[in-house]
Amino acid sequence: MNTIKRMMMLTAASAAAALLLQGDFSDRAFAQGQGAANEPYSKTCRVTRPRDNSIQNEEPTKVFDNLYLVGPCYVSVWLLTTPQGHILFDTTQEPFVDHVIDNIKKVGINLRDIKYIVLSHGHLDHVGGAAKIQELSGARVMAMAQDWDMMAAIDGKPGNRENGGTNRMPKKDMVIKEGDHLDLGDQHLTFHWTPGHTPGVTTTEGIKVYDNGTPHTALLMGGGGYRGGLKEAEQSLETAKRVAAIKGVEVNLQIHSWAEPNGYPGGGVLERARLLKNRKPGEPNLFIDPKTWNERAQAAVTGAERAIEREKAKAAGGKG
Ligand SMILES: [Zn+2]
Repeated sequence: MNTIKRMMMLTAASAAAALLLQGDFSDRAFAQGQGAANEPYSKTCRVTRPRDNSIQNEEPTKVFDNLYLVGPCYVSVWLLTTPQGHILFDTTQEPFVDHVIDNIKKVGINLRDIKYIVLSHGHLDHVGGAAKIQELSGARVMAMAQDWDMMAAIDGKPGNRENGGTNRMPKKDMVIKEGDHLDLGDQHLTFHWTPGHTPGVTTTEGIKVYDNGTPHTALLMGGGGYRGGLKEAEQSLETAKRVAAIKGVEVNLQIHSWAEPNGYPGGGVLERARLLKNRKPGEPNLFIDPKTWNERAQAAVTGAERAIEREKAKAAGGKG
């Protein structure tokens, strides 16, 4: 979509949404503002206006010969293709899943050729569309046991994006665990249990992507940080160290369009996708960025160490 068309849509949609959302505290920031003038769009989608449904639809992007970005703009859905069928990473949620399905069709992929859906973790913004895609594709759905439990717990509960909508979770299918493999076509993936963000985060190692025929190695880290508490902070440190120790990561497939603090060039998925669309022969693919990945992986370790200190201080304060 071109910028002018997008801006026109935004203006109209923002006005309508602002009216609808009056009195809803969680959406006040969005209703008031557009974000800073020069703010990268990935940040607007993910940080400044994450609950603005009207800005979410994104055109699909072919990021590698065998990898498409088919998600809405605040959360990333990745479609990995092989001659023997395809693997979808995450599914976003209602109502955006319909847009994701359209994007998949738009890049010429038959839903029935999706063989596996790998869920990064059990939060609604990643799994809320899984039931629909499971039914339409017949794909096997994979998640860690702990996050299958999370999904069961939110099944049938009110959704957070639609008025009156309720969550519909995928039918429980494949339970994966640390070290499990998935072989499909030329892909030989390894799953890691990387808890912290949720109890059953799945990180996928060894995703092979091709840039004009040249292979590169990608990783999909299924969610960083921790959910509060000392034990959880300690768990997230162990996770961060294990993830940082994974060798040879050249491409970081972010599960959200923006990762603080600097997003671009460090990780604004949508900015990179736009630049990629205008890439000239000989120019690099900006998603191949081992340096930023390594910096981020190290920063996650440092961040987890700080979180442990904070949790310890909190516990000490509570006792005193
Ligand atoms: Zn999450």
